[in-house]
Amino acid sequence: MKYDFDLFVIGGGSGGVRASRMAALRGKRVGIAEEYGFGGTCVIRGCIPKKLFVYAAQFGEDFEDAAGFGWTVPERQFDWNTLVANKNKEIARLEDIYRENVLKAGAEIFMERAEFLDAHTLHLTKSGRKVTAEHVLVATGGSPVRTLGPGVAGAEHCITSNEAFYLREFPRRIVIAGGGYIAVEFAHIFHGLGSDVTLLYRGEKILRGFDDDLRDCLTASMHRIGIRLVLHRNIRRVDKKGGSLFVDTDHGEMIEADQVMLAVGRAPNTKGLGLEKAGVQTGAKGEVKVDRLSRTNVPHIYAIGDVTDRLQLTPVAIYEAMCLTATLWDATPTPVDYANVPTAVFSRPEIAAVGLTEARALEAGHAIDVYQSTFRPLKHTLSGRDHRARFKLVVDSTTQRVLGCHVFGFDAAEIVQVAAVAVKMGARKSDFDATVALHPTAAEELVTMRTKSYSKP
Ligand code: NDP
Repeated sequence: MKYDFDLFVIGGGSGGVRASRMAALRGKRVGIAEEYGFGGTCVIRGCIPKKLFVYAAQFGEDFEDAAGFGWTVPERQFDWNTLVANKNKEIARLEDIYRENVLKAGAEIFMERAEFLDAHTLHLTKSGRKVTAEHVLVATGGSPVRTLGPGVAGAEHCITSNEAFYLREFPRRIVIAGGGYIAVEFAHIFHGLGSDVTLLYRGEKILRGFDDDLRDCLTASMHRIGIRLVLHRNIRRVDKKGGSLFVDTDHGEMIEADQVMLAVGRAPNTKGLGLEKAGVQTGAKGEVKVDRLSRTNVPHIYAIGDVTDRLQLTPVAIYEAMCLTATLWDATPTPVDYANVPTAVFSRPEIAAVGLTEARALEAGHAIDVYQSTFRPLKHTLSGRDHRARFKLVVDSTTQRVLGCHVFGFDAAEIVQVAAVAVKMGARKSDFDATVALHPTAAEELVTMRTKSYSKP
């Protein structure tokens, strides 16, 4: 045979693992290289440990809420090291499962880094082996950006989400820079666990890309629960003195903290991969450029997941892997469809959405009807917690198709995952109306909003 492998996958994250398994299960000879651990960002330093931390952070409020229901909770104590140790145990278990699944499917694993020597040859850097492959898939993911911007000193004193999962000491005071998913989620995690949190964001409103109303709801909620949200701020420098860090902002504030966390985006992992030796084109951020079938400019080299800087979401990488293996081996060119991908920010409460925001729908030329409901969930009538959920449907005025569903509230992600089926199927407002409510739930609001709030333009 001309090549050692039919497919060689670089990277054992969600996308790479799925692609290698799908190919091996089709009887292909598959090799996969992973230099750190199976599962990638999602399993090791992303979604899964983050969600475990989110659960941990929620308990504080739950203990408080219990009082309204007659419970007396004795004095509470939180032990960070127990949480980290238990999380590490679970992550190790998941890594094993990922590795086992790859092996069971019949792929050969190389626990080392792979770099291109040419378009069909890879160098395995630990063993020094060279392997050849007919097809190569780049699925190396991304890493947190570790800079405060040009000329800004002190990034070496800061952590990113990578380190936040393994801190030896719980930070009593933390400054987080950024206004995206990671900044907002970690602000809530650390706040819920007892830190004094300051979030510095350069813009006017956090969570760019989400529906404005929900962004406003979350911003108000953050102020209410005591996360210090400072807008229109950039960091000028970070200094370390004694045991503390000092953050100097462009508005002249000096904020003292135990940790400063950068959550200012993630960059594709393409450095040192040898892509240039294979002739693979990359973009301005170093991302591998691909078409809708995840093909690079080199016909037999593909890329999926965060390294392509399309939608940086685990289920999207998995979906891209499924589409790619169908394209390659089922004689069905399967382009990736990025419409109506549901997403959530695991703040407390959460924001979740599928489809178009009000602004995006208008930009796309739709005339829209908006249905909105703001209400106090039943649980909080007794807990006394000052929380109002917000549900919003964006509907095309002409076709009555539901273009977007946006929820701010507890369990928003669970609710929107299910609503996403209806939105993806092209459900109309009348389909929502014709669905009998499941009572008493918060989700029932989605099928009981009968009165239009407003129309635009
Ligand atoms: P995001 O792209 O979501 O947010 C980056 C934030 O950093 C933005 O607020 C951005 O501001 C700000 N920023 C960018 N550059 C600078 C700079 N030089 N100085 C100051 N601020 C800056 O990235 P994250 O790191 O939060 O997350 C990366 C990706 O990972 C997300 O986009 C998401 O796809 C994925 N993710 C998904 C999660 C989920 O599904 N729950 C959870 C975590 C991550 P501005 O808006 O002004 O550009």
